[in-house]
Amino acid sequence: MTGKVYLVGAGPGDIELITVKGLNCLKTADVIIYDSLIKDNLLNYAKDSAEKIFAGKRAGNHSVLQEEINRLLVQKARENKKVARLKGGDPFVFGRGGEEALYLKENNVEFEIIPGITSAIAGAAYAGIPVTHRGISNSFHVVNGHNLPEEYFKVLSKLPGTLVFLMGVSNLENTCSELMKHGKSPETPVAVVSSATGGNQKTIIGTLSNVESCETPAIIIIGDVVNLRESIQWFENKPLYGRNIVVTRAKHRNKELMQKIEQNGGNAVEFPTIEIKPLDVKLPNLKQYDWLIFTSINGVELFFNKLQDVRDLGNVKVCAVGDSTAECIKKYHIKPIFTPDDFVSEALIEGLRDKIKPADRILLPKAEQTRSIIPDELKKISARVDELVLYRTVIPEYNKQLLKDADSVCFMSPSAVKNFPKEWNNLKAYCIGPITSNAAKEAGFKEVITAGEYSIKGLMEKLYES
Ligand code: SAH
Repeated sequence: MTGKVYLVGAGPGDIELITVKGLNCLKTADVIIYDSLIKDNLLNYAKDSAEKIFAGKRAGNHSVLQEEINRLLVQKARENKKVARLKGGDPFVFGRGGEEALYLKENNVEFEIIPGITSAIAGAAYAGIPVTHRGISNSFHVVNGHNLPEEYFKVLSKLPGTLVFLMGVSNLENTCSELMKHGKSPETPVAVVSSATGGNQKTIIGTLSNVESCETPAIIIIGDVVNLRESIQWFENKPLYGRNIVVTRAKHRNKELMQKIEQNGGNAVEFPTIEIKPLDVKLPNLKQYDWLIFTSINGVELFFNKLQDVRDLGNVKVCAVGDSTAECIKKYHIKPIFTPDDFVSEALIEGLRDKIKPADRILLPKAEQTRSIIPDELKKISARVDELVLYRTVIPEYNKQLLKDADSVCFMSPSAVKNFPKEWNNLKAYCIGPITSNAAKEAGFKEVITAGEYSIKGLMEKLYES
């Protein structure tokens, strides 16, 4: 049997907090079995062919489901698959990783453990609370906050170190009163950090005698280190903290924008409005062309995927509409010879007018349905324009539930606006360029903001402003 199971800690929420080893495993796994604490956008790192199986716990049905998960792990390994069992935080911190490892061992299935950053520490860190601090706390104790036997409280209430409770939200009041009953001061500071390390993180501060509860998942931190938050708080000061921003590009295109939003403290909601369907076409003989003009990243990637040998390009001059298209071309070690200052199609045409000779032949890779201005205008300069239709865009299935907490939406193209559900035009619309902005206005968006520079960077700058 060559199959193997990796029990992988995915970290607490911020997807960049997975370890390098964990991410490498996720990227190469054939099967991914994941919990409810795992974010969808982490799964985007899996290979396209990977089978993704949700194994979240249903309330009240714990033991049965755990049995099923155990069996599934063994079954997939016996099919000679590389299985990544992805768990929130660390697999051995209240993650039932131990039970799964024991079951694999009993069934002679090879396994590895890839530790993760537990929410117990990371949640505190993102709230600006160090779990230990010289002169304040010499230890920290991670405790199951659910159904804790009385004798634990007797001991915990005497410990001077920091207490961190997991799975303890519904029991918060009881935990605080048990600790006070056994002698802990009612003035002891308490922090409750929910959805820690993600854009929805919220922190409530109080004392054992008055702290309020919050949504789950949350960690509860008890001890004087909580006071350090006043000076060390950092994550909640980020420019996009508290914002829920919808990203609408095709699924595999969203990583960069989502990462930027999350690195700046926002919650990025992936809601693809376009799906790229590559068409089965062959590249023509490229040596017969003088110009190759790209108008989208999709066109660039699909074109170069088909190109067998870079020398087939001959002496063709490569052009780009837009900064991101140009950047994408550079990945293939080709410097586009012209990128307009103003990243819209009209500007490209203007710039090319005195460069293209009437006898030049132009190849234009594109999508099936796109604005016709480029071919039309190019045809006015040279009659020898060939369109190479490489892909079709279709509307994916929507889960509108995802939009319920959103405040803003980013649009990178007019077609993304067109495909976005009409009834959500009360969101603030951030558009990559003026044509997209016009489409948003036409769709009834009241607040439409256009990036100063027509790129992701330009869009991010507008998001920071308001
Ligand atoms: N293995 C996980 C813990 C699983 S138990 C870890 O190491 O973090 C589930 C509990 O973890 C939740 O009840 C909550 O207390 C805590 N938790 C997990 N993710 C969290 C998050 N993003 N924010 C706050 N608490 C979290």
